[in-house]
Amino acid sequence: MADTYDVLIIGGGPGGYNCAIRAAQLGLKVAVAEKRATLGGTCLNVGCIPSKALLHASELYEEAADGHLGALGIDVKAKLNLPQMMAHKAKAVDGLTKGVEFLFKKNRIDWLKGEARLVGPGMAKISGEAPATVSAKHIVVATGSDVIGLPGIAIDEERILSSTGAIALAQVPKRLLVIGAGVIGLELGSVWRRLGAEVTVVEFLDRILPGTDMEVAKQAQRILMRQGMAFKLGAKVTAVAKMAKVLKVTVEPAKGGEAEILEADAVLVCIGRRAYTENLGLDEVGVKTDERGRVIVDAHYATNVAGIHAIGDVIAGPMLAHKAEDEGVALAERLAGKAGHVNYDVIPNVIYTYPEIATVGKSEEELKAAGVAYRTGKFPFTANARAKTNDMTDGFVKILAEEGTDLVLGVHMVGPNVSEMIAEACAVMELGGSAEDIARTCHAHPTLTEAVRQAALGVDGRIMQM
Ligand code: FAD
Ligand code: NAD
Repeated sequence: MADTYDVLIIGGGPGGYNCAIRAAQLGLKVAVAEKRATLGGTCLNVGCIPSKALLHASELYEEAADGHLGALGIDVKAKLNLPQMMAHKAKAVDGLTKGVEFLFKKNRIDWLKGEARLVGPGMAKISGEAPATVSAKHIVVATGSDVIGLPGIAIDEERILSSTGAIALAQVPKRLLVIGAGVIGLELGSVWRRLGAEVTVVEFLDRILPGTDMEVAKQAQRILMRQGMAFKLGAKVTAVAKMAKVLKVTVEPAKGGEAEILEADAVLVCIGRRAYTENLGLDEVGVKTDERGRVIVDAHYATNVAGIHAIGDVIAGPMLAHKAEDEGVALAERLAGKAGHVNYDVIPNVIYTYPEIATVGKSEEELKAAGVAYRTGKFPFTANARAKTNDMTDGFVKILAEEGTDLVLGVHMVGPNVSEMIAEACAVMELGGSAEDIARTCHAHPTLTEAVRQAALGVDGRIMQM
């Protein structure tokens, strides 16, 4: 292995590994320092992939167990085999993390196994299996994020869990109390509710999914409640007492008032994540961070120290794997002397509950706040032929287009398979398309995507199928 590189990337998550692959494709000599035993970062090891494996399997289990398959003429007696479900999850993680390792070999990227620390301009020390000092023309900080804890509530990953513990439980808790009605709370809360837990979600704000279009969030909450998930909004957890058999959780109104004690067998803390920069040596080399500990970068991901860049969860912006990936690719292209660019107006956001939630662009609340005049087209899945045929009619598609220009500014969906359907909206927005462009595009029948076309027709007040 060389100890001088064009690019040294610290962190082998979606930001880091995609940056590495693109830089190598462009002819640069690249190394990635990753201290975890496997590549892929949070996303592949303890985030996107294992959580989606459990969401998929638990969704199928519930469909079989709650009689929905029976309604389609398939009589089955569902029995949960949790160890096998976890083995399926582990297999998905293993296959994909090894896949990244294969891509590193294919692209001649050196994986420096260990923890990297910045020690000077263009210099990092790697400690671990093979300690080394490495120099590089460009260093990319892609160290990701970590769980935010709650003061006084120590995560033990057995009964008081972060997402990492909550994707690895050996048995289904009878009662799961989730702190935070954000993405992780709703996704992992859904997993354990489907598998048999009574789930109560305590949320500080008076709404779920802050930042998501309000109409979508309200509809999602109604559906999740109908499925049996309970919500305590405008409330905060102030203490969790560990008794021999149960956890006693103190819940108080967010605005102050009388506390109540709820009993639970497990508590999941998911109130957000923070930039991870521990032991990285940022202070020693003088890299500036903001008030939330995120590395400050300019529009081209350069920090204030020449030669040091940063991408992904460790900088500002949505903490999403595809955002980190796009930043990694854009930066690699810039480092190779090309033009790299990320369009932050078109970053989709998907929540993999049932039904799924998928959004891109501006919400109605954001457009109103910015004083942008817009028209709305909305179409419910109850009127979509494929959704009716599949007996999956929860949710709707909403398109927001600029008054006058008809430019698509936001697309918001809650419904079956919308995680796949949002790509059409992204492509149209990326190309500067209008609602009329979607309305005039032929969509296959019968598909769920016809709901997108009908919503687009609705922007001009000419929905045909309702
Ligand atoms: P990370 O993936 O966090 O990778 C950073 C890597 O850097 C880590 O492997 C870490 O070990 C390594 N590292 C840190 N410091 C050092 C050091 N000094 N030396 C060497 N190595 C170091 N996003 C989505 O888009 N879709 C989803 O469905 C989704 N689901 C999620 C589910 C859960 C439960 C969680 C927790 C997150 C989920 N996310 C999802 C978010 C997603 O995982 C992150 O946005 C993404 O992983 C960020 O990528 P990254 O490369 O910036 O950092
Ligand atoms: P989040 O920011 O999505 O939600 C945290 C929630 O906790 C918010 O609703 C917030 O108001 C609430 N909260 C904060 N403090 C609280 C308190 N003291 N008591 C009660 N509620 C409180 O964070 P998360 O769910 O932990 O997820 C972390 C990150 O991981 C997210 O930013 C998300 O982008 C990423 N992620 C993405 C996906 C996906 O794309 N499908 C899945 C999982 C995680």
